[in-house]
Amino acid sequence: MTAKPLSILPDPVLRQVASPVATVTDAVRQLMDDMVDTMREEHGLGLAAPQIGLSTRVIVMDCSDEDDSDPVIWKMANPEIIDASDDMASMEEGCLSIPGYRGEVTRPARVTVRYLDADGVQQEMQATGLLAACVQHEIDHLNGRLFIDYLSRVKRDMIIRKMTKEARFEREE
Ligand SMILES: [Zn+2]
Repeated sequence: MTAKPLSILPDPVLRQVASPVATVTDAVRQLMDDMVDTMREEHGLGLAAPQIGLSTRVIVMDCSDEDDSDPVIWKMANPEIIDASDDMASMEEGCLSIPGYRGEVTRPARVTVRYLDADGVQQEMQATGLLAACVQHEIDHLNGRLFIDYLSRVKRDMIIRKMTKEARFEREE
């Protein structure tokens, strides 16, 4: 298992619609494990494959508390929201691909997600609270959508402008 370098805004891979996984093979399981390692090393709650440069529909999550003795690690291929509540919840979100910025995002408070687990078996998960926000954030990544897209246009454009400038600066160094 290996942690991978992160794709950072404005990397175009973050704006692509990722391709579905045909079958959960050993290679997909390896990818899931590498993503869990990367997420842990970067202290993230979740990670989507495009964030390590792969435009494929795989996400991992760990939304347990730090003092949780038995944390639940979610590994999902082709996750899809099949039901969402009408009531909404707001949470402050950040993203490993947009380091240094956070913003309040409003999303459905409860969702049901259908996905393939690491064994390729179709499962359904019901999520509320932090996990609901996290799974929606990660699935957004697979559709080229970022949390900054939920912020005001002024704030979003400001973040994109600053991060684009930083990326250019780093290339020139
Ligand atoms: Zn993210």
